[in-house]
This record gives sequence, structure tokens and C-alpha cells, in this order.
Amino acid sequence: MTATLPGARTRILLSTPDVGDREEELVGQAVRSGWIAPLGPMVDAFEEQVADRCGRRHAVALSSGTAALHLALLQAGARPGTAVVVPTLTFAATANAAVYTGAEPVFVDCEQESGNLDPALLETALTTLRAEGVEVAAVVPVDLLGRCADHTRVAAVCERAGVPVVADAAESLGARHASRPAGSFGVTAALSFNGNKIMTTSGGGMLLTDDPAIATRARYLSTQARQPAVHYEHTEIGYNYRLSNVLAALGLAQLERLDGMIARRRALRAAYAQVVEGVPGVEVFQRRGDQDDNCWLTAVVVDPGTAGWTAEDLRAALDAADIESRPLWKPMHDQPVFAGRRSFLNGAADRLFATGLTLPSGSALTPDQVGVVMTALTDFLDRHR
Ligand SMILES: *Cc1c(COP(=O)(O)O)cnc(C)c1O
Repeated sequence: MTATLPGARTRILLSTPDVGDREEELVGQAVRSGWIAPLGPMVDAFEEQVADRCGRRHAVALSSGTAALHLALLQAGARPGTAVVVPTLTFAATANAAVYTGAEPVFVDCEQESGNLDPALLETALTTLRAEGVEVAAVVPVDLLGRCADHTRVAAVCERAGVPVVADAAESLGARHASRPAGSFGVTAALSFNGNKIMTTSGGGMLLTDDPAIATRARYLSTQARQPAVHYEHTEIGYNYRLSNVLAALGLAQLERLDGMIARRRALRAAYAQVVEGVPGVEVFQRRGDQDDNCWLTAVVVDPGTAGWTAEDLRAALDAADIESRPLWKPMHDQPVFAGRRSFLNGAADRLFATGLTLPSGSALTPDQVGVVMTALTDFLDRHR
């Protein structure tokens, strides 16, 4: 659907929903079927197909990825008096979900090249916390910008420490690590279908697991923890976290188109790589080994000493051309709301925040818009040679 409505935006954004006729068709079908809310056959089908795609036995469709993380952490035993280890380089939702449970988030830094949780530093953190008698309920590796964390090494470290993994795969649906799909790692994994993600239900998420007891309990907790009684008996606090059937219709249509959307994002990344090729001091972030990534967002990393300009200079130039770009996630240990929280740092996240810039990466970008972005980038680089 092209944006021809009054007030339609001309600004080129980082990542917007990519929807069309198929979405309209399935949402219409959901409406006509009478299955509007809360649940329905399209939720069941969506869960089945996502579980299948991610190599999981069970999937529970929820109202957001944050809700999925929250329920996964509750079931891992996160509660007041425990700690949850979270990468410092992530979106705030990962840490927020830990705080919802009453647990303390503990931040661990990343590897410079991938931006993902540094397994060696994770091991140091877990050893230190154990020596201090801190109970760690879970470690939450994040698949940053659609690059899977090094789940092989993270799992080994966590197994040695006896700590379960809750994988934050909000950004990585469709990516792979060691021949396994994103979402297949950890005791549980969380997906997000927020509007800016690789595919969207306008808002939504999914909890994935192989453990039937975890899936059953997630369904129960996400529907206000109702006991099976006609009068709504409650023995614990629940949440209103389920996904509606209408939104699942969007998800089913998006899932059919997921591979095509990933291919378009990958092509866009290749175009960026070509434009910056040979330019001193700038490279495409996560470029090496990205054949297994879903290329959700493409970023460049700028070394100002070599390039003679900064990521902020580029951001300002693109902004002047009505093109959105954004620094990589501001690390959680630098966020005012998490000031003073325990952190294990190596400097990589701060460096990436200072030097990284995410660029328009959405699969809904038209060829014209891609042309506008590539021209603006080329012009900037020419002016700064
Ligand atoms: C988007 C995102 C989330 C949250 O997902 P919502 O569906 O927006 O609640 C969690 N973690 C990461 C890393 C994300 O990018």
C-alpha cells in the first residue's frame, strides 16, 4: 500500500511496516470469520507456523516481545533477590522485562565486531556473582540487529554456571547460528512483531520453548491466570498479554512474505557495503559473516580519526536530506534509569554507541527511496574525501 493519504510522510525512515494485499486479505478474512478477539484459529495457525519456522515444539502468541521476555523470566525464577544478566548493548525492553520481575538487571558488555554478548566477559560476570552469593535467575543474550549471539559459547558458559538462557530473539527472526534458526536457542526465546521489526503484527510477540509446561503456564499467565472454574477463580497474579486473532492474521501474511522481506534487506545492505567500499575509516557493521543474519538493520561504524568525520556528521547530513538514521542502542549502563546498576564492561558497547549509525533498512523502501538514500550517502562521502 503506497502512502498517498493526506499527511503522508515523505521522510525516509529506518524501518517501517511492509504490508500489502495479502495482509489486507487475511485481516479481512479474520474479520469476516467473526474471530476478532481475543483468540481464534489464526492465532493457533500463527503459533504453529512460527514454532515450525524456529524449530520449536511450542509457541505462545503474545501482545509484545517485552511480554514474552517477562513471562519467560518469571518462569526462569527471576524475582526480587535474584539477578538477570542482560547485554548492555540492547534495546531497553530486555532490561525492563527483568525489572518487572523484581530481579536486578546486571549488564555485560559485548564483542566489538558483532555487538553481541561477550562470552568470556559473561563467564567472568557469572563467576564473580556466584562468589558473592548472588543467585542469577537467567542470562538473556540478544541477537543484535538480526545477528545471532554466539549461542554455542553462551550456552556452554551458562551450562557450566548452571544458569538458564532466555534468548531475546526480538530482532532476529529468520537468522541462523550454527545451522539452527534464531528462536531455537535457550530454554525459552522471545520474538517481537513490533512495527519496526523484520515482520510485524502491528504489535505483538511470541514466547518459544520446547517445554510443554512452560508453554502451558505462559498461556495461563497471559490470560489473567484464570483457574478452570466458571466463576473466574484466581490463585495468583496474571497478565493480559495474549495476541488477538486479527493481529495473528497480519502475522500469517507477513510470515508468507518473510523470506522476500529478508532478501530485500540483505540487498540493501549489499548496496550500502558497495557505497562505502574503499572509503577509509568506515565499514558496514556486522558485515563479516552476515550470510546467516536477517539484516534487520544495517549500520555503519565510523572511525573519525581515519575518516576525518564522525557518525554524527553523517547523521546530520542525512537528516538535512529528510532521511532518518540513528546511533546504535545507547548502552543500558549509560541510561539514567539504570544508573548505578552492576555492570561488567570492556568498552566495546560505548565505542559502538559513539561510532555506529543505523541507516534506513526497511523492506518497504521503494527503489526511488533507496536511490535517494544512496545518493545522499555518496554525496556526503564525496564531500568528505
Ligand atoms: C523490539 C525489541 C524488544 C521488545 O519487543 P516489543 O515487541 O517491542 O515489546 C525486546 N528486545 C529487543 C532487543 C528488541 O529490539
